Amino acid sequence: MNSTAFTGIAELVTGDALLDGADHSEHLGLLSDAAVVVQDGLIAWVGPASQAPPADERADVGGRAVIPGFVDSHSHLVFAGDRSQEFAARMTGVRYDGGGIVTSVNATRAASDDELRALVAGRVAEMRAQGTTTVEIKSGYGLSVRDEARSLRIAAEFTPETTFLGAHVVPPEFADRRSEYVDLITGEMLAACAPHARWIDVFCEPHSARAFTEDEARVVLSAGRQAGLGLRVHGNQLGHGPGARLAVEMGAASVDHCTFLSAEDVEQLAAASDTTVATLLPGVEFSTRSPYPNARRLLDAGVSIALASDCNPGTCYSSSIPFVLALAVREMSLTPAEALLAATVGSAKSLRRKDIGVIRTGNRADLTVLDAPSFLHLFYRAGVPIARALEPGGRHGQ
Ligand SMILES: [Zn+2]
Repeated sequence: MNSTAFTGIAELVTGDALLDGADHSEHLGLLSDAAVVVQDGLIAWVGPASQAPPADERADVGGRAVIPGFVDSHSHLVFAGDRSQEFAARMTGVRYDGGGIVTSVNATRAASDDELRALVAGRVAEMRAQGTTTVEIKSGYGLSVRDEARSLRIAAEFTPETTFLGAHVVPPEFADRRSEYVDLITGEMLAACAPHARWIDVFCEPHSARAFTEDEARVVLSAGRQAGLGLRVHGNQLGHGPGARLAVEMGAASVDHCTFLSAEDVEQLAAASDTTVATLLPGVEFSTRSPYPNARRLLDAGVSIALASDCNPGTCYSSSIPFVLALAVREMSLTPAEALLAATVGSAKSLRRKDIGVIRTGNRADLTVLDAPSFLHLFYRAGVPIARALEPGGRHGQ
């Protein structure tokens, strides 16, 4: 197969801590005037351009920076309908309580497979155009056996990182029969969805009457684990609660949101940092006018963190990781290097993947190019569309 040498890389962020000197605290694994050789979709060689081995083709990126493709480890892309009015209402002070999800459920159930597929394809393309090369996609706007299973079937056409979220909210037709809905999720719905899913997730949130209690969430996660799925949790979004502790207890790969964490939660997440990642979703705080979590406090305590978009129709309809990065630095006290690592190697860890998020020999050739000489421009030039996934074969839109 053909190999391609990408040259003219002014600054290469590998994310490979092994390339850093011992005193380098930020683990960016920076190389200047670098080259990357790609073969069969994998990275075959990384190093200084002057030492690059011969390749079948050369693609000069023209003095730009190259970084690992963003890993967006939390999104809800399978939905139809429009909720922009809710966003407008929240900006005037209306609080988010999880209620609007039903609006998306009705529109999603009414859409055809082809309509949903086209909507997901558009959103994935939008992400790629902003530098995201891996995306996790959840179901959760079907909430019936048929609609959850087809949401996952469609999601699986776009990514191997699919997550069954039948436990997003209790649908209105089960409002007075919560336990029956939990039985459905863990029974017939799980059986229909598990073949199309890698993960199971639950919205564990005592501050929303439509979400799930700690006990219900434990039942859902246990059933998912029995069906062979990995575990993820939506927790601690609307207030203090059991989500983070439950994620640690059950060995979940990630607890997502973490907007409200107690000192005990932070301690437990730090002790579980090899297993459970705290995934922060600052686009949600932005879009719901909520306080931002203090990511500095988590890093200082030794918690593993990730950053993701939570792209969804209700609480954050932005697919932009560069936007998330800018918020993380401006509002959550991360350095640019820490934020970039959280959205690459950190979010890869939350998906238990070692073949993405770091530019190293043998990993997937998921590269993002910046129309800038340094990764710092991602933050310095917030809002300017400088990041995009590098297409195989060297097309990079010069
Ligand atoms: Zn979410």
